[in-house]
Amino acid sequence: MLFLPFLIIVVIAVAIYANRNKDRRRCRWRQNRHESDGALIRYNCITCGQEAFRSTGAPRECLAQLGRAKL
Ligand SMILES: [Zn+2]
Repeated sequence: MLFLPFLIIVVIAVAIYANRNKDRRRCRWRQNRHESDGALIRYNCITCGQEAFRSTGAPRECLAQLGRAKL
């Protein structure tokens, strides 16, 4: 029965990891090329509804606290 304690540890580790991951990445950015402005690509956050314009890639942070400010 060495299997059971190991399984419990794995479950706890996964739960902690999932929680931390959820905290860090609250936003899910989706690219919106149709409404992009030149070189800037528009990104829409699925979770908080925020939008952002980036040329380098999707934003990593959540912009929910910034209000509706763009650029
Ligand atoms: Zn967001």
